[in-house]
Amino acid sequence: MAGFGVFSVAAGEPRVGWRSGGEVVDLSALGAVFCSDSLNPLMAQGPAAWDDAVGRAREHEGPRSRIEEVTLRLPFEVAGYIDFYSSLEHATNVGRMFRPGADPLPRNWRWLPAGYDGRAGSVAVSGTDVVRPRGQFADEDGAPVFAPSKRLDFELELGFVVGVPSRPGEPIPADRFAEHVFGVVVVNDWSARDIQAWETVPLGPFLGKSFLTSVSAWVTPLSLLEEHRVEAPVQDPPPLPYLAAGRDWALDVDLAVELNGAVVSRGNARTLYWTMPQQLAHATSNGSAVRTGDLMASGTISGPERGSEGSLIELTRNGTEPLELPDGAKRTFLEDGDELVLRANAGGLELGEVRGRVVAPA
Ligand code: CA
Repeated sequence: MAGFGVFSVAAGEPRVGWRSGGEVVDLSALGAVFCSDSLNPLMAQGPAAWDDAVGRAREHEGPRSRIEEVTLRLPFEVAGYIDFYSSLEHATNVGRMFRPGADPLPRNWRWLPAGYDGRAGSVAVSGTDVVRPRGQFADEDGAPVFAPSKRLDFELELGFVVGVPSRPGEPIPADRFAEHVFGVVVVNDWSARDIQAWETVPLGPFLGKSFLTSVSAWVTPLSLLEEHRVEAPVQDPPPLPYLAAGRDWALDVDLAVELNGAVVSRGNARTLYWTMPQQLAHATSNGSAVRTGDLMASGTISGPERGSEGSLIELTRNGTEPLELPDGAKRTFLEDGDELVLRANAGGLELGEVRGRVVAPA
């Protein structure tokens, strides 16, 4: 495992660390940007400084601590959060469930990376408890109620973090992605399906998503993923010219989901239809500026095979086919006490895990 994070030891000040296997190396002796409580000062510096930081971090002989002995912090200050919907298989699975008989994909889906603006303030670091949200939804008889969600789900995603900002009115073409993007995190976009289903029309995801989004404590610098870049799946129809580049940025990253210690899904991020450079190009195509710390997540990553879906609503076919865990327990959606872990691996390079335990609302 390798990557940058922010940690503290006992009552000490937060500082930037480098993950090296089961240990974190304290980088605070390397300069002011490493004495920070977030990666934002380093992320704002740009690709030359990032490469230099990776080189120095790998060689640094600073104090080391076992991961279990430190407190891991949210690694960057989240300026904004966009969540895309870039998996063809996920969009198709969900479309079939919610619009049976109709074309599962909206007409625009193959023309643009669909997304929505999420809630930056509810992004938290891996390990944060998932308090079951209360909300309004239609109960079994169709009548609206306000109650703890009964259909709490996870969404397996990868996200990228913007380092170098852009100016308003200045789109970022897909082929300039690496000039702006610092690195990649694993993301769990926790979702309350009952709240989501009731509220989504007409304005899209809102309280069914905004109670919590978890990210890995470690940001994997883009340069470490260079050798795991592959060609994206064929896009048909060919995208419009402003989205044509960046198709060489699919990431060959193996993904796994563990529920209470049992693997319930395995997939790979290379199946995503839209790539990260295409997402960034689209998000800025209207002149919207990006800021240091903007997080853009892929959307749920589901593969074409059974057992590679990135959410329970897909794995259990909308709750009609419960998962059976090795201890005999059955799950349609998450129950209080459940622990869910997302893992991501590129060859021998482990990305940060995302862990969360479900707790009952107070
Ligand atoms: Ca999502």
